[in-house]
Amino acid sequence: MSEDNSQGRDYTLESDSELRFEIEQKDVKVLVTLVNGFAELFGTELVKKKKYEFGMGAKVAIFTYQGCVLHVQGKMDVCYVSKETPMVQYVNCHAALEQFRQEAEEKDACGPVAMVVGPMDVGKSTLCRILLNYAVRVGRRPLYADIDVGQGAIAIPGNVATILIERPASIEEGFPKTAPLVYHFGHKSPSGNSVLYNAVVSKMAEVTLNSLSGNKRTQSSGIIVNTCGWVKGSGYAHLLHAARAYGAKAIFVLDQERLYNELLRDVPPNVHVVLLPKSGGVVERSKELRHESRDQRIKEYFYGNIRAPFYPFSFEVKFQDLRLYKIGAPPLPDSCMPIGMKAEDNKTKVVAVTPTQSLLHHILALSFAENTDDDVIGTNVAGFCCVTNVDMDRQAVMLLSPQPRPLPPNALLLWSELQFMDNHA
Ligand code: ADP
Repeated sequence: MSEDNSQGRDYTLESDSELRFEIEQKDVKVLVTLVNGFAELFGTELVKKKKYEFGMGAKVAIFTYQGCVLHVQGKMDVCYVSKETPMVQYVNCHAALEQFRQEAEEKDACGPVAMVVGPMDVGKSTLCRILLNYAVRVGRRPLYADIDVGQGAIAIPGNVATILIERPASIEEGFPKTAPLVYHFGHKSPSGNSVLYNAVVSKMAEVTLNSLSGNKRTQSSGIIVNTCGWVKGSGYAHLLHAARAYGAKAIFVLDQERLYNELLRDVPPNVHVVLLPKSGGVVERSKELRHESRDQRIKEYFYGNIRAPFYPFSFEVKFQDLRLYKIGAPPLPDSCMPIGMKAEDNKTKVVAVTPTQSLLHHILALSFAENTDDDVIGTNVAGFCCVTNVDMDRQAVMLLSPQPRPLPPNALLLWSELQFMDNHA
């Protein structure tokens, strides 16, 4: 159902409705202008008469509480107006969080931690964006924690990260990703190393909850936590672990009654568990598309995007100067472990990696830890490199990095299972 609006067309939206569109083709751009009334994109208000540009991959909804006229120009794959949206329920969640924030302000206490949970592709990230936007629009300064290592949009996938939200997301670019706090995990699913995942989430929760008291406005604003779409078995156990680690006050469950009932059963009664519908506009992605979007996020980390391109650097590092480690040693039965250690401890062990050809394309995280005696898991990372060549003859690797300088002399790098094929070189 492709829609060719090359000449431009006006859409008149009634109150509480939204215009949804998707762009799948390359080199296509769609321009949207708010002509009349008020409208917002995932919680960010559109400025009247300003042209907003969308390109390939855009899947968006422009919603209006009061009614509006939008002018749309360009070729889209799908474009329609829907009156069935869950936005009223979502704004009610925001109102409930605001009450908790006001109480926190009065008592000089920490504001609410709200977790957004649900299976894959139900609009979790979108609901987080809406709640964060609504919070900053009423003067709050919440933290946004993304513990979804599969899609991780703040840093790159394979990590958990937190940023301070100080202004509404840009319509075209989302939230700025400056100065995030990032902890390395190294796998695209928590199942890659469950023990490590819980340890990293606990660390992130501890550090960010402690940091709240440093700023009055952020303290009462609280944290919005985005989670993985893996909600069964161990995935569910990870969600419970995160809820405990963060002391979640509210859990918004998107689109799954089973998960909602399980949480009602398993979390303390003072935690508010709320079941919410997903929006009919949320688009399901295939495994391939999810893989592509992971790739896209990593590419953006190194190369930016059309609006703000980055020019990364490449440099060579000799094997002898490469301090490369991996977290998690191969499993050993308890009977083979040194006295006092459990097989589980192996999962958080820092082990040296010998460079071989198999390093090619892997992402490496540059840790702030100085040596392996430091708490490597509990130390945040400064950034990422990608191995673009391994030369066994010359005993050297070529690294792609956003930084112009070679690695700091004692740089400690952490291996990640995530790979990125650098086709730009
Ligand atoms: P999840 O975090 O659960 O995987 P997302 O929030 O990333 O889901 O949503 C999946 C996709 O659906 C995103 O590309 C998002 O932009 C799109 N989307 C979300 N809500 C709507 C909507 N109301 N109309 C159209 N597309 C939407």
